Amino acid sequence: MFWSRLAFIALLTTLTGCSTMQKIWHRPPADPLAAFQERAAKYHSVVTLPTFETTPEAVNATVDKTIAEGNAALDGIGQLRPTEVNFHNTFRQLDDIAYLIQGASDRLDLIEQTSTNAAVRDAATAAIKKLSDWSVGTDYREDVYTAIKTYADTQPSLEGEDQKLFDETLRDYRRAGLDLPKDERDIVEKLRKELTALETDFEENVTKATNYLKFTKAELEGVPEDFLSQEGIKTGDDEYTLKANVTFHYIMVEDNARREATRKRMLVAQYNLARQENIPLLQKILVRRDEMAHRLGYASYADYATEVRMVKNAATAITFLEDLKKGLQPKYDAELEEFRHLKVKETGDLDAKINIWDWRYYANQLKKTKYNVDAEQLRVYFPYQRVLDGMFAIYQHIFGLKFERVEAPYKWIGDLQLYTVSDSKTGQPLGLFYLDMFPRDGKYNHFAQFGIVEGKLLPDGRYQRPVCALVCNFPPPQPGKPSLLSHDEVETVFHEFGHAMHTILTQAKYSRFSGTSVPEDFVEAPSQMLENWAWDKTVLDSFAADYRDPSKKIPKEILDQLKASRLATMGTYYRRQLSFGLMDLTLHTQIHATNADDVLPLSNQVLSDVSLPVPPDTAFVAYVGHIIGYGAGYYGYAWADAIAADMATVFENSPHGYFDKKAGMRMRREIYAVGDSRDINISIEKFLGRPRSIQPFLKKIGVDK
Ligand SMILES: [Zn+2]
Repeated sequence: MFWSRLAFIALLTTLTGCSTMQKIWHRPPADPLAAFQERAAKYHSVVTLPTFETTPEAVNATVDKTIAEGNAALDGIGQLRPTEVNFHNTFRQLDDIAYLIQGASDRLDLIEQTSTNAAVRDAATAAIKKLSDWSVGTDYREDVYTAIKTYADTQPSLEGEDQKLFDETLRDYRRAGLDLPKDERDIVEKLRKELTALETDFEENVTKATNYLKFTKAELEGVPEDFLSQEGIKTGDDEYTLKANVTFHYIMVEDNARREATRKRMLVAQYNLARQENIPLLQKILVRRDEMAHRLGYASYADYATEVRMVKNAATAITFLEDLKKGLQPKYDAELEEFRHLKVKETGDLDAKINIWDWRYYANQLKKTKYNVDAEQLRVYFPYQRVLDGMFAIYQHIFGLKFERVEAPYKWIGDLQLYTVSDSKTGQPLGLFYLDMFPRDGKYNHFAQFGIVEGKLLPDGRYQRPVCALVCNFPPPQPGKPSLLSHDEVETVFHEFGHAMHTILTQAKYSRFSGTSVPEDFVEAPSQMLENWAWDKTVLDSFAADYRDPSKKIPKEILDQLKASRLATMGTYYRRQLSFGLMDLTLHTQIHATNADDVLPLSNQVLSDVSLPVPPDTAFVAYVGHIIGYGAGYYGYAWADAIAADMATVFENSPHGYFDKKAGMRMRREIYAVGDSRDINISIEKFLGRPRSIQPFLKKIGVDK
């Protein structure tokens, strides 16, 4: 536990009779961070904190220096004579170069999101773009590829992680078009560059899209008063201006507006955002992606994209979603029928139907009336420090770790915290994490884990231990009242800190396999698994207590109601997820140069078939930017959810449940430590001790008993 250092000092002060102890006590305390670094050296590891750039000039200098170093290192590979090539100066050297670039880019990412200086943030944004533009071009360096091929042609006998590095590096080159004849390779390179530009334009249009809707008070009946009275919303005597592009505004109306016409107007407005600009762009993107995939020898872009993920091909992803869609049918039907009953009761219309603009409203009504859920009343049980200490205690226990707070030599904000992580049994230093927990202007506005220094075996044989940061936006403490977390935030912090564990506990040799560098359709699974901890009464009782009277624990009924109400709309929730996933895969398998005009009708058809029918003459696909960004990857949410539920059973079937250290240590060994250094399917089976199963997931979402 992180406070055990304090307990240790307290113990020493009671042992005043012991002169040796006295001597230690009076000696000026050594710098704990320096001591940690010294201890790391004994384990042939290195613990270093990065130097953070604090001026725009420093940011620019970093990028120029990184690019120059990268170019020089690539030149070194390119200049190798055929007789000189070996594994170290080709494949491994490329990983070292990628590590150098990654290190700079990770740090600049964090600076972009956390710096208190706007000029520094802007410089970081520009620097990241410069770095990523440069790195795309490096794939096409003929001289480097020649050296790589020369070594590959010797058909070396390698094993394990070295073999995987060898195979996947060659795979990357193949996927970039490097083993095609020169003229075809040039076409692929051109398509890739065009795609980058088109995708950026698409995303920008999504960000820029706005639609202001004016309503009267009567039209907004049911929408909470304290929301409507906010600045910028009440714009006239009886005029309220809401933005269809602001999620919060959209949800407030869809969840609460009693008038169906109001909900419909808001939805239709959102479903037409960015339509004029983005439908033509989307056609171009999909046609180019399809052409690129074909030139590279794939049947579709979805096959190209999924090759490097767990799922391996589009057909497996589609089957997974279709099966789930079928499995959810009875529960989905029952949920819609329950919503319909509420609508009949409210409107008096016996033939009432549930439309796409109705489901959020009736799901919300159901929560309020049937389950009587007021999630806000849970906040008093989650004072920030208690949650953090409680979570740390659990993670330290199950993963066999010790966290200790140390003073950060440099702080980008005053209340920044830094912790060391060691193995609790051996004391071996494993890494460091920062905590930047409260909102401020210009800061990243969600919750996320940022990798800063990734783990890697350095060329000199020492292991570079990782450093990461948790960047959150908890409610700040008020005078006389601590920061009180919502249950949602508790779940989120368990999730994000899981990513930190993934980063820190890595033992992979190469940076491309270390930490959270695992297939995209797996990376969320361990953290999604850990979200279960926030729903377990025993776990919560180990730390959650009313801040005014810590003898009061969370009442079981409230937690049960919350669980029941979540389960009550799971069918609707997942059918909606699946509609996005299937739309994404359909577009990326079925759109070619000859049928680009079908993009919009096909999208609407899939959405309507899997979830509630979308109104005619809407174009939601133009606005769901992240679906394009994921590029045949949206299925990954449900895919990882299924793995997470399966993985959770290892703890659930263990003697100590979510506190089971044996299960935790197995997770540390088989999942976190290996990362992507071996096939993730093998790692999951080793952790489970059996083949994977979808049953735990179906059970969790109420499909299977
Ligand atoms: Zn996550």
